[in-house]
Amino acid sequence: MITLENVSKSFLSRTGNVTALDGVSLDVPAGAALGVVGPAGAGKSTLARCVSLQERPDAGVVRLDGLNTATLDTRSLRATRRQIGFVGGEAQLFKQRTAAGNIALPLEQSGVDGPRRRARVGRLLDLIGLTEKAAAYPDDLTEGQRRRVAVARALVGEPGLLLADDPTANLDADGTAGVLAVLDRARAELGVTLLVTTQDNSVVRRICDDVALLDGGKLLEHGNLFNLLRDP
Ligand code: ADP
Ligand code: ADP
Repeated sequence: MITLENVSKSFLSRTGNVTALDGVSLDVPAGAALGVVGPAGAGKSTLARCVSLQERPDAGVVRLDGLNTATLDTRSLRATRRQIGFVGGEAQLFKQRTAAGNIALPLEQSGVDGPRRRARVGRLLDLIGLTEKAAAYPDDLTEGQRRRVAVARALVGEPGLLLADDPTANLDADGTAGVLAVLDRARAELGVTLLVTTQDNSVVRRICDDVALLDGGKLLEHGNLFNLLRDP
């Protein structure tokens, strides 16, 4: 489903040219859960942003379901982006909207009618275990609950792919467990392909079956978690 072919990306910073991704090639089959690990600055977020089409590689190709995303015009790019759910390490909810209102937002923007919105939002509230909090405002939720709402919002457009960029950053053990359970359910019940970046190996152990190790923008290891642990 996702194929990266020799993807490179650099940024110009005050200290010079920074290579965030350096010739990364990678396959993520449909339905897989891939954990992307590596130290801070390894290129994990850049990889996630290239796959979610928020960033364009300098070189190389990102294919989604075989489609070469470099060849898309602005309109198709926008349509393809809508097929991809993205959630970052901060929930970034609208404080003036309820949990349900935040989840419903992408549906309102794409003109989905009220009854269908309600049904879809209701299903996602159930998936994230926050049905009773539908009418709660972000300030009255815990950070872990807010992250779960952000995951629901990312899923409400029924994307085939969910990218979670450091989804458990700065959460306590309970918050982490809650977010991971939701990501796992999204995969099991909605069939999404999952790509999760993290510095926390236990996140990978708990919800991923494949792992990719990045360092200095280079892909050092990639494979099935079980096999990598067995054959170090
Ligand atoms: P990670 O997510 O593994 O911490 P990133 O992908 O965020 O790594 O960053 C990889 C490298 O690229 C770092 O050196 C970072 O400073 C640099 N970088 C990432 N995004 C930008 C940007 N928008 N502008 C300048 N430098 C960037
Ligand atoms: P806000 O005040 O944040 O705008 P609303 O109550 O207007 O929130 O709801 C926004 C959206 O969320 C609407 O599309 C509505 O259908 C949906 N919604 C609200 N409450 C629920 C609920 N309990 N279950 C499912 N969907 C809901």
